[in-house]
Amino acid sequence: MITSIQNTQLTPFAEKLDQPLTKQPISVLQINLGRRCNLACSHCHVEASPKRTEELSPEICEQLVEVIERFPQIQSVDLTGGAPEMNYGFRPLVEAARASGKEVIVRSNLTIFFQPGFEDLPAYFAENQLRVVASLPCYLEDNVDKMRGQGVYDESIKALQWLNKLGYGRDSDLILDLVYNPPIPTQADFSATPAQEPLEQAYKAHLHKHFGIVFNHLFAITNLPIGRTKFHLQHRDLHQPYLSFLEGEFNAATVGSLMCRNQLSVDYNGKIYDCDFNQMEDIPAQTPEGEKLTVSRLLELGSLDVIGKVQTDDFCYGCTAGCGSSCGGSLV
Ligand code: SF4
Ligand code: SF4
Repeated sequence: MITSIQNTQLTPFAEKLDQPLTKQPISVLQINLGRRCNLACSHCHVEASPKRTEELSPEICEQLVEVIERFPQIQSVDLTGGAPEMNYGFRPLVEAARASGKEVIVRSNLTIFFQPGFEDLPAYFAENQLRVVASLPCYLEDNVDKMRGQGVYDESIKALQWLNKLGYGRDSDLILDLVYNPPIPTQADFSATPAQEPLEQAYKAHLHKHFGIVFNHLFAITNLPIGRTKFHLQHRDLHQPYLSFLEGEFNAATVGSLMCRNQLSVDYNGKIYDCDFNQMEDIPAQTPEGEKLTVSRLLELGSLDVIGKVQTDDFCYGCTAGCGSSCGGSLV
C-alpha cells in the first residue's frame, strides 16, 4: 500500500500499547562488537565505516564470556557491528558460546571475506556451525550497489556461492539467511515493507536461476528512522512524515513478538540496552528503580532478568508497522 502523509502529531509509542511493554526472561544476547566495517552503506543505522575505531575491549570481552558461560538461559548469541568479524572479541565470543552449546548468529556483510586477512572466515563459520545472517538488500545488482557501494553485489554473490560450496543453505547445521532492507524513501509516497514470504520466493527463484545460490530464510527488515536513515529523511524533510506513516501502519498483533522483549543488547563499552536501535540512540535499559546497567553489574547481581519495562521511543513504530520487523524479520 502506498500512502501520502502530511506532518501530524504522533501518539507516544508507549501510549499506543494496551499495557506496558514488559521484559520476558532473557534468551538472546546480542553483542555489538564495534563500529568498524569495510563498507559504509547509505541506510546503516550504526553509521559504521572503515574509519570508525570504537570496538570491544579485552576486559568487556572477558565479562561477556563469563555471562555466556554462567547463564544457561541464553540460547542464542547474536554478533553484530559494524562488521563483527573486524572488531576485537569476535572469535573468543564465538568459541565461548559454541563451547556452551549456544546458537551463534553472525550478521555478516559477506564482502568482508575478500578483505586481506579475512579469507578464512567462511571455513571458520562452517567449522563452528555459525548461523550466517547476511545483508543483501535486493536481489538485483543496481539496487544493492546504490545502497552499499560499487561492486558489493558481485562480491556478495561470490560469497554466497562460497558458503553454498561449504554446505551452507543445504546442510541442516549450516543455516544461511538473507536480509532485505527497503530503499530509503526519497519522497512522501511511503510504502510498507513488502510481505516476507513472497519476497523470499522471488529472491530464491532469482538467485538460484542466475547464480545457483540456495539459502534458508529471507528476513524483511523495515528501515527505522535512526542513524544514516534518519539523516537522509531529515535532509528531505521526511523524518516526521515517515514516522506518521509508520504510526498509521501500527499493528497491535506484532507487540507480543517484539525482539526487545527477550533480548539484551550490549555495546562495545559493556552498557546494556533493550535493542540495537536503542543502543544507537543512546537510550539505555533500566531496572524498575531506574538503574542503568552494564555487563559487570549483571554479573554482580547474578541475574539477567532485572529490567522491568522496555524503553521505547517514536522510532519503535518501525517495528510494529504492517507485518512487524525485527532482526529476525517479520513478526506476524
Ligand atoms: S555492512 Fe552493515 S554495518 Fe557495515 S556499513 Fe553496511 S549496514 Fe552498516
Ligand atoms: S525499536 Fe523496536 S526492538 Fe527496539 S525497543 Fe523499540 S519496539 Fe523494541
